[in-house]
Amino acid sequence: MNMENNEKNPAEDPEMESDFFVSLMIDYNKCNNCGRCTEVCVPGVLVMVNNQLEVTDVELCNKCADCLKRCLKRAISIND
Ligand code: SF4
Ligand code: SF4
Repeated sequence: MNMENNEKNPAEDPEMESDFFVSLMIDYNKCNNCGRCTEVCVPGVLVMVNNQLEVTDVELCNKCADCLKRCLKRAISIND
């Protein structure tokens, strides 16, 4: 697997799945549970439960980064 040529969305390329790892970090000291990130998370990784942000299955994350753009508190970080 050539990681330098990693332009494809792994969600669209099953061959890349085994090498696909996402570390999604929520800084709960910054998060105010506004829910903005959950509104744009299409795979449902980020959801509100009892008015609190919860991370469900991080393996569903497609690294779209929409949640980062929506978070006014900069409480989310994604590493791969
Ligand atoms: S990067 Fe995209 S898929 Fe992943 S948690 Fe954020 S909004 Fe959801
Ligand atoms: S957008 Fe940011 S502050 Fe709002 S719930 Fe998501 S992580 Fe928390």
